[in-house]
Amino acid sequence: MFTPAAHELPGMRVLVMGLGLFGGGVGAVRFLAKHGARVTVTDLKSAEQLAESVRALEGLPVEFHLGAHREADLDACELLVISPAVPPDNPFLREAVKRGIPVETELNLFVKLCRAPILGITGSNGKTTTTALVEAATRRMGGPTWLPAPPGCFDRPKRVWVGGNIGRSLLADLGDIQPNDAVVLELSSFQLENLAAIGRFPAAGLVTNLQPNHLDRHGTMEAYGNAKKNVLRGRGSVGIVNADCPVVGKWLSTAANPLSFGRRAPVARGACLSGGWISIADSGDAHTILPTSALRIPGLFNVENALAAACASWVLGATKDGIAQGFAEFRGCEHRLESFGTWGGVSWINDSIATNPDSTLAALRTLSQPLVLILGGHDKGLPFEDLARAISPRCRAVVLLGAATAKIGAALETAGCSVPVDRAKDLREAVAMSASHARSGDAVLLSPACASFDQFRNFEDRGKQFKAFAKEATAGRAEVEEMIAGAPRTATA
Ligand code: ADP
Repeated sequence: MFTPAAHELPGMRVLVMGLGLFGGGVGAVRFLAKHGARVTVTDLKSAEQLAESVRALEGLPVEFHLGAHREADLDACELLVISPAVPPDNPFLREAVKRGIPVETELNLFVKLCRAPILGITGSNGKTTTTALVEAATRRMGGPTWLPAPPGCFDRPKRVWVGGNIGRSLLADLGDIQPNDAVVLELSSFQLENLAAIGRFPAAGLVTNLQPNHLDRHGTMEAYGNAKKNVLRGRGSVGIVNADCPVVGKWLSTAANPLSFGRRAPVARGACLSGGWISIADSGDAHTILPTSALRIPGLFNVENALAAACASWVLGATKDGIAQGFAEFRGCEHRLESFGTWGGVSWINDSIATNPDSTLAALRTLSQPLVLILGGHDKGLPFEDLARAISPRCRAVVLLGAATAKIGAALETAGCSVPVDRAKDLREAVAMSASHARSGDAVLLSPACASFDQFRNFEDRGKQFKAFAKEATAGRAEVEEMIAGAPRTATA
């Protein structure tokens, strides 16, 4: 891979392969166009499927060749910028390499050009939540010195920039990021693999945990783990690992300056629980920050995410009050057990990210209220039997929707489901049916256990529509607490 200097970009013909909907493609195009490159975008998806990203680029001098990759686009191409989703054996990419066209990714460009030290956050689960918690904790930097941060890469930065896989490209912000700022990036295994290919690693890294995932792309667990481990490989780097995870816990010695976090036992240096408080352990002392009961995000896994984020925030030089206040205000990430309103004593929870039965089962275990559960969507061919058995003890009613309705309905029948099961023609009807079942003290939970592609553009689209229909169906009944970007706000429905 090679990096063009910014002064080489004016007039350069750049092909961006894979616009996607997660911000990276849009960020790359904006950056390239801002520096005068002649940008063409190619994606297998259609303009309609990519509408949001195409709209975000309105007004920029960009050509779109969507719906297919055409080899003719490589004829005049001087630089190919690929999405991390493009595997190394992709035929179009191979053709570009065969022709000698230099290849880059949005993240590699950013890491090479960024002047501030970077803390990378990766893992199989909890990346986005941990990254968003760090963002909340580092919103108010400065203030009285608390515990000196571990020596290493960050020198009391005044400003912390947060981006990457969380859905925000920081490429266009490069000019504003100062050398004494800090950057926090959520990183996928694909992005880390691409970084390793150019021998660049973040100054500090954090791994939340490791469970089987993306084996179609990485081949083996070992290869997948090695991709993640790259986040700890910066020279003289600070590495933060989950001491409770049997795989990641063993990576403690990978980084030059090792720290860990865990909720099961004290750690030598890092973050752990002390009498139910999230605490930093350093030089044999535990420095308490806030009680876990002050966290608004449910589940023990979110205590782990908060410990991970506390440790990272300490490394970044956040203050105790900054962390405590940021965590106490944090209401969760959009579409992940996102509690977005309470109407007439019924809380409404959007867990649209749950696209398989295990994720929905995790939601049922995490929440404690009686549930009216909206299930269904595009069937990924996974079994629903375990989930079906868990329904009667936890739910007041179930509303089925989408292509998997018949399969889930059959699994519920086989499991002897004893609660009402409704079938809705669409999400609006599912919301109305759910509202009629729910009583004060219940929660209506969208945790579909299925992919969204039968009726929606993606899980975000499904979650946003759910919230809009819920507000429509319950309008005027009560005060509504709205969650916007992790910060609580109050509005009247
Ligand atoms: P990621 O960004 O790694 O996909 P998220 O923070 O977006 O993770 O969380 C997605 C879902 O993963 C959550 O709704 C929850 O079900 C599960 N999850 C989150 N954090 C953890 C964790 N620390 N351990 C296990 N599962 C988790």
